[in-house]
Amino acid sequence: MAFASSSSSSSSLLHHSISSHSLASHELKAPWIGSFRPVDRPVVPPTVGTSHRRRCLVKPVYAEPKRNDSVVPQAATMVAPEVVDKVETEDFEKLAKELENASPLGIMDKALEKFGNDIAIAFSGAEDVVLIEYARLTGRPFRVFSLDTGRLNPETYQFFDTVEKHYGIRIEYMFPDAIEVQALVRSKGLFSFYEDGHQECCRVRKVRPLRRALKGLRAWITGQRKDQSPGTRAEIPVVQVDPVFEGMDGGIGSLVKWNPVANVDGKDIWNFLRAVNVPINSLHSKGYVSIGCEPCTRPVLPGQHEREGRWWWEDAKAKECGLHKGNIKQEEVPQLNGNGNGAVHANGSATVTDIFNSQNLVALNRTGIENLAKLENRREPWLVVLYAPWCSFCQAMEGSYVELAEKLAGTGVKVGKFRADGDQKAFAERELQLGSFPTILFFPKHTSRPIKYPSEKRDVDSLMAFVKTLQ
Ligand code: SF4
Repeated sequence: MAFASSSSSSSSLLHHSISSHSLASHELKAPWIGSFRPVDRPVVPPTVGTSHRRRCLVKPVYAEPKRNDSVVPQAATMVAPEVVDKVETEDFEKLAKELENASPLGIMDKALEKFGNDIAIAFSGAEDVVLIEYARLTGRPFRVFSLDTGRLNPETYQFFDTVEKHYGIRIEYMFPDAIEVQALVRSKGLFSFYEDGHQECCRVRKVRPLRRALKGLRAWITGQRKDQSPGTRAEIPVVQVDPVFEGMDGGIGSLVKWNPVANVDGKDIWNFLRAVNVPINSLHSKGYVSIGCEPCTRPVLPGQHEREGRWWWEDAKAKECGLHKGNIKQEEVPQLNGNGNGAVHANGSATVTDIFNSQNLVALNRTGIENLAKLENRREPWLVVLYAPWCSFCQAMEGSYVELAEKLAGTGVKVGKFRADGDQKAFAERELQLGSFPTILFFPKHTSRPIKYPSEKRDVDSLMAFVKTLQ
């Protein structure tokens, strides 16, 4: 396992970082940088045979790595930080509240200070290189690991190499189990995820290797941001006890997850990356925003949400590969079946309050929508949402859909809703293209087959643009 260590004081690192890129400190525009003041830390020379709880290979942050270095673990040459003994002894909910307004750099510093050698940055090969830059700026030793699924773009592999050289670190790559990959590919082929969802392949190539990596840690650092996925990441705290994975002490609650950029906008990340001039994945210049495996990632158009470039054949709520499945709320879990699409809510829904209630909206029953679907010539076109009232994604679009119905009132376009869960689900899947909730259909005036709204952007303007195009 590689370990990156700094032999410079924090303040000089910060100074070096800025001056080496011809930037005065006041030119760092990102507001979340301003309040952080790295402190000087003593530098202790390497001590052979120093006792550490975990053994690791140490690299000075700025050292140019020799590519043929021995990978035999050596004693760490860092000042052993004081780390928390037990994850449970700290109230991380309270700490998250205290750090809610802290800068990402301040959060990173706190994380590294607390966990020392037992924490590592999860690096995906995308803009989360910002985490490595923050770690460097703290002046503390840090570790970086990444999941090599075997299906990454060549550009991402090149980027890994560039990052290693730029920071003088070794990334600790985790690989999937060869026997498991072999079994999956031999039985289902190389592209099974297009047919039965990405979960199984992600489980083999990502989740299990991640689980192995985390079992050697007590904390990890991710680049998750609230604005990345409105469905699954809107509430992530800056630090939390990991709700899913276990750390080296074993058991749920034995691992802490740090999300230093949880509250940062994607555009601010990019402003910072440009300001400090760190290497970036060349895929970004080709329209890629969120970057994962090659077959499951594509560029997005201006205005499209970044997650629309990931697993685009599936619904938004399934767009967690399992690495952050704790983000998916418990009540949503039954919606995620094996293929990552919507399934009937397990505990029924009779008691859930109905949604999309408006005088401008027609509630269609089964006969109503069957008739609508059969008509070759309708008097007017219809826009209909297939929904389930317990589905949080339906709830999230309620305001915009009701507003849209109000705007379309009197324009000749009818707006309706059809509750398609429970007994109606099989019918809706078979006859109405229901893949997941919500599904929005436009029934044109002169053709019977409805047109499915293809985007996850469900704001009024996007929906209106869809209607006006087809009207
Ligand atoms: Fe497999 Fe795609 Fe998941 Fe990569 S992102 S592990 S190729 S399903």
